[in-house]
Parts: sequence; structure tokens; C-alpha cells
Amino acid sequence: MFKSDNILIVGLGLIGGSLAAALRRAGHYQVWGYDRDADSMAQAVRDGVIDIAQQDLHAAVASADVVVLAVPVKAMESLIEELAPYLRAETLLTDVGSVKGNVVAAAYRVFGTPPGGFVPGHPIAGSERSGIGAVNIDLFVEHKFIITPLPESDPQAVAVLAKIWTDAGSDILTMDVARHDAVLAATSHLPHILAFSLVDTLASDAENKDIFRYAAGGFRDFTRVSGSDPVMWHDVFITNRDACLKTLDQFTEGLNVMRQAIVDGDSQTMLGIMTRARVARHHFEKILAGTAYTEEDMSSKTNFDVAPGGQVQGRIRVPGDKSISHRSIMLGALAQGTTHISGFLEGEDALATLQAFRDMGVVIEGPVDGKVTVHGVGLHGLQAPPGPLYVGNSGTTIRLLSGLMAGQQFDVEISGDVSLNKRPMGRVANPLRAMGAKVETGDGGTPPLKIFGGQQLNGINYQLPMASAQVKSCVLLAGLYAQGETKVTEPAPTRDHTERMLNGFGYQVAGMAPTRSLVGGGQLTATDIDVPSDISSATFFLVAAAITPGSDLLIEHVGMNPTRVGVINILRLMGADLEVSNPRDVGGEPVADLHIRYAPLKGIHVPEEQVALGIDEFPALMIAAACAEGTTVVTGAEELRVKESDRIQSMVDGLITLGIDIEGTPDGAIIQGKSGQSSVFGGGEIVTHHDHRIAMSFTLAGLRASAPIKVLDCAHVATSFPGFVELATSVGMQVTSVEE
Ligand code: NAP
Repeated sequence: MFKSDNILIVGLGLIGGSLAAALRRAGHYQVWGYDRDADSMAQAVRDGVIDIAQQDLHAAVASADVVVLAVPVKAMESLIEELAPYLRAETLLTDVGSVKGNVVAAAYRVFGTPPGGFVPGHPIAGSERSGIGAVNIDLFVEHKFIITPLPESDPQAVAVLAKIWTDAGSDILTMDVARHDAVLAATSHLPHILAFSLVDTLASDAENKDIFRYAAGGFRDFTRVSGSDPVMWHDVFITNRDACLKTLDQFTEGLNVMRQAIVDGDSQTMLGIMTRARVARHHFEKILAGTAYTEEDMSSKTNFDVAPGGQVQGRIRVPGDKSISHRSIMLGALAQGTTHISGFLEGEDALATLQAFRDMGVVIEGPVDGKVTVHGVGLHGLQAPPGPLYVGNSGTTIRLLSGLMAGQQFDVEISGDVSLNKRPMGRVANPLRAMGAKVETGDGGTPPLKIFGGQQLNGINYQLPMASAQVKSCVLLAGLYAQGETKVTEPAPTRDHTERMLNGFGYQVAGMAPTRSLVGGGQLTATDIDVPSDISSATFFLVAAAITPGSDLLIEHVGMNPTRVGVINILRLMGADLEVSNPRDVGGEPVADLHIRYAPLKGIHVPEEQVALGIDEFPALMIAAACAEGTTVVTGAEELRVKESDRIQSMVDGLITLGIDIEGTPDGAIIQGKSGQSSVFGGGEIVTHHDHRIAMSFTLAGLRASAPIKVLDCAHVATSFPGFVELATSVGMQVTSVEE
């Protein structure tokens, strides 16, 4: 039975001292300290970092419940050997070393079979300072602690260690030893090698010394870690030699490519490297935040403060359509030739698609001001990505990509952020398996998805069990790689961008809704795409104008795909004064300008055939319903329960907070409108569950509110609608984005 009453920390430097201080603060541990330097021990007692300084290391080890080795990694090896005879069967022995391979190897050498109480670990927090004077009681708060248990480690000892570090403020992760050392070589050790080397190279040149005087922020940021402790990092580079060399060699190769491009004046290569890096940095930050030493403050939150009242006046253009942006990258990448895209939505979701194809070797320039150039590689030209494809929060990316990946020759893993990793993927995995694909999902049918390459796909005749454009598209895209005909029949109309755009790229999709089909083995041809504005984004402004007396708004160049115009039909049924003008055709997709003025709205039973045509628009439409006269009934919208949040519940909870009489049903809601009153909504705090559409919908409520509304957790608005707050303010809405 492993206990943690008495914890001995060996090495009272930055990490050991900070852990000691944090555990003392937790209140229920006796924290003992040992350091070979008597002055450090005395200071640790004086500063209240430890309860008791232990002079006799061996005796202290013999009576401690937990022994934490917090010395430089090379020193761990001899220390384990020295302390082994004094450990009891129930002593928990752990360490904090930045490299795990050598510590584990030392344990096998010393013990033969390491005891169950040996559980190595590594806090992903630190600084370039060292010694007892650098102690920081909050060092580990909201930082990761990686446990690298051995097969011999006792699960109860692992649980005790996890509890200790949780009490120090850390979030616990588990990894195997080799993976830990490889990941840290790339994310931590290589940057330290580069920083030490760069500063030394510049400083050892007498002439160059002078340039430090002119060094600005970039130089300081890049080289900050060269102020770190040389002994500690010497030990890290020596003990993690192989992984460090591997990543250093990869880096050197990349650097040589950049060098040659500069020699040759090869702008395309240089811009390719830099645009890829710029986008990747954003993604890597998210993936690796948990494994970077000094990460940005991930706890900061974005809320919207909405003041009551405001106007909706003017002429605006909203960002490009997300669905079309996704597909223009996907189909452009798989086409023969070069596709030029304009009006591309530079939101995180579409950028996730863009990054996924870059990871698979496609050269993509931009985006710059919505312009992207995709150098297609053909249907069979994708390459295996270097690691799992990370698609952030984007359900469209993971579902459409899974169809394409089923037809590749290589294996792929696709994963997303916490919210995406809870969404159902069985709905795409099942038809893909029926086509002959080998697909594994995580527990409960959620991501990560593992798709194994080299499978022979066969066309199927698939009756979609739910109205979902993503599932339909997934099956059709897999059909590009299947033998014979792939046919899909949908239970209700859904977006047909994939079908239209496949035709636009010269790939014939036959039949009429609800049944469409294509035959595998063809070819896509590059084309130019001017992405229409997103009707889902336009919806927030349509509803804003529809509910605000005196409003008059023109929204230009909106995509009017017949499978997306549910919101227009529904608003008109509710009595909105909405005019569609200047209809035209852009790249196979219909486009028009929308002119909307305030008119009193009335409650309706929303026709179910319109529901699928406007499913994403329901959060905003529920705000409109609250402002209408009479009751609005929504049915047949169960799909809303499995979006970025359970949108029915999110809207019910938020509207009740603002004083609206609403009842959620399994497939919709019943909303009692409050027309005739100048203020429809009260004030309050809205929980969005990080769902961007919920956040933007409740922002509209401010236009008819009597008191301020605080909309919490709005950071995801940038995913679908970059510049939302600025555009809303420009038409007269009173919303401010506030970082907490
Ligand atoms: P530190 O501030 O220099 O503290 C190390 C402590 O260990 C000092 O008190 C040092 O005493 C003592 N020590 C050194 N060699 C020893 C030996 N042979 N026998 C006994 N004690 C010895 O270093 P740190 O930053 O806390 O690093 C400690 C461990 O944490 C390392 O394994 C490191 O890889 C790991 N780590 C560091 C960071 C970071 O960012 N700094 C982050 C995560 C993990 P003297 O003062 O007498 O040398």
C-alpha cells in the first residue's frame, strides 16, 4: 500500500523547491527536503519551502513514503544506485527529469526488475532560472505532468503520484517512455540547442557583439531559453542523444532547403516554407501546448459584453461560405492542375482542412486576403502525413476527409479538439466499412479515427439513416476511389455543395435529389472558385435586422444554394420584409444580394422540410421566434442535439435565463414570443458551451434587451466568422469582445 504522508524531495532547486512549496500549501503532506548544498537546505527552511531539512539522506529515504529525485538528469543514474538499498517495498520512488529513457535504463540496471513503487514522471513547466532562489509556488498550476509508467509500475503507486501532482496544480497525462523522449526532443530540446548555438555563434564573433545592442523583440523571444542552466541542458542533450540528433538532422535538412532557396532567389519555395510555417504554428500551438515548457496562458477566456439596444443599418458583406471553402481545398488538392480560390474563409475550420492537405504533401499558397492557390496532385497523389491529422474543432473536415482517406494507400489517424472528440463518427465509419474500408473509432464511436490504407473499396447503394450532408459527402468522396457506382439516397434534402462542386471540377454526379450517384475511377480537373458569402453567417445579420425596429440592411453576394435557403423561407413565413435581388451564378453556385428591413414577426410551426435546409440557422431563428407574436414550434430538428453543443438545450437554457418561455422537446422546441414589448429579453449570463453559433445568436438578443447580456466563452466565434464583432459594431450593434 503506497502512502504519501511523508514526501522527501532530493534536490532543492527550481523544480524540487517549487514542488515542495506547492505541496506544503496543499496542507496534508509533511514535506522533507535534502540538498547536497547545506545553504540551499537552510534557505528552504527559512523560506518555508519545506517542513524539515534532512541531513542524513539514507535515513530519510528509509523512512519516507515518497522519494522525489529533482536533480539534473545525469545525476539521477548514480543517485538511484546509491539510494536503492534504503528503499522499502512500499516506497514510491519518482523523478522529475526532462529525459526519461536514461532514468528508466538506470532503474533496470540497478534493480534488474524495477519495484512496483518506481514511477517516473516529468513536469512540463519550468523556466530559465535555477536554484532555490528561483522557487515559484505556482510553477505547475495548469501545466501538464507526464507520467511514464513502466509495465512493472504498481497502478496504486501511479494513482498516488497523480494525486500528488494534481495537488501541485498540474493536469496529468500518461505517455510511454520512448514517445516522451521523442516528443520532448522536438518541442523542447531542439529549441534549446538552437538558442544556445545561435547566441554563442553571434557572441563569439567580436564584430557581431555590437549587434546585441540593436537586438529587438524577435531576437529576445527566439533566444530567451539560452539563459537556461548549462548543466541541466548538457545532461538532457547527452541522455536524449538519439532523439535530439534525429530532430536536429531533420531541422538541418529543412534549413538547407531554405538556404538553397535564398541562394537561388527561389521565391516559391521560400514563400511555401513560410506560409506553411505560419499556419502550422497556430495548429502546433494547440496540439503541443500541453507539451511545451512555457506555454501561453491557455486559461484566458473571450466573452462578449452586449449592451442593451442598438441599430442595424448599412451595406455589408459577410465572410465566404465555410462549406464551399472546405470543399474548394479538398477538390482542388485532388484535381489535376492549379485551382485559384478567392473569398476563402480564413476561419480555423477551413484552415484545418488546408493544413491537413499540406500535411499530405499538397503545395498550397496563401491564404492572403482570402486568396488561395492549390497545386493539385490528382486523386492518387496524396502522401502519408508525418503524424496524425489534427483537425481542431472541424466536424466537416473529419467527416469528409474520412471518406477520402478510406481510398488511400497509407494509414491515417484523424483527431480533433476536446469538443470534436466527443462527436459521433459511427455515422461515417459504418457506410465506409460497408464499402470495404478499414476504420477504427475511439471508445463510443468518437474520434480519433484510424483509417487503414490499401483497402479495395466497392460502390454501395446507401440509404442515409439521417439527413446529414457530411455523411452524404463522405460516402460520395469515398466513391471516387470505389469500384463501380456509389449511390446515396437521403431522407430529407441536405446541402449539395459536394455534388455541385464535383460537377464544377468536371466529375459527373448523376441523378436528382434525393438519390445521387457517381462512378469511381475518374479524374478531377482544376478550376477557379469565387467563394460566395456564407448564408449561415448572413443569418445573424438577417435576424438582427428582422427583430430591430427601424433597421434597413443590405447583405451582398450571399450564396443561395437551394439546399441552404431554409432561413430565408422561414423568416419570410414569419413575416420578415426580405427581398432577394440581383440573382446570379458564380462557379455553379447561385448568389444574390439580400435586402432586409424591420417588420413585425409572427410565430409559426416551422415546416419540417425547411428544417434540414437551415439546420445551422436555428439558434438565431430561435432568437427571432422569441421576438415574434405567438408561438413558434420547431420539430424534426434532432440533429441540433449533436452539433458543437446540444443546441436545443443551449438555447433553452440561455433563453430561460433571459426570461423567455421556452420548452425543449427531443427534436426541437416550443417558444412563446413576446412581441409588442420594446424589450423582449432581460439581461444575464449565457453559457455557450464554447459553441460559436450559440454565442453569436445571443449577441443578437442585446438589440431587444432591457439589461446587459454577458455571453461566455466566445473564442470559437473566430472559427466560423472572423471579424464578427467588428462587423456587428459597424452596423450599430453594441457588443465588445473581452479577454479574461
Ligand atoms: P536546479 O534548479 O539546478 O536544481 C537542481 C538541484 O539538484 C540543485 O539543488 C543541485 O544542487 C542539485 N544537484 C545537482 N547535482 C546533484 C547531484 N549530483 N547530487 C545531488 N544533488 C545535485 O535544476 P532544476 O531546474 O530544478 O532541474 C532539476 C530537474 O528537473 C532536472 O532533472 C531537470 O531535467 C528537470 N526539469 C527541469 C525543468 C526546467 O525548466 N528547469 C523543467 C522540467 C524538469 P547544487 O545547487 O549544489 O548544484
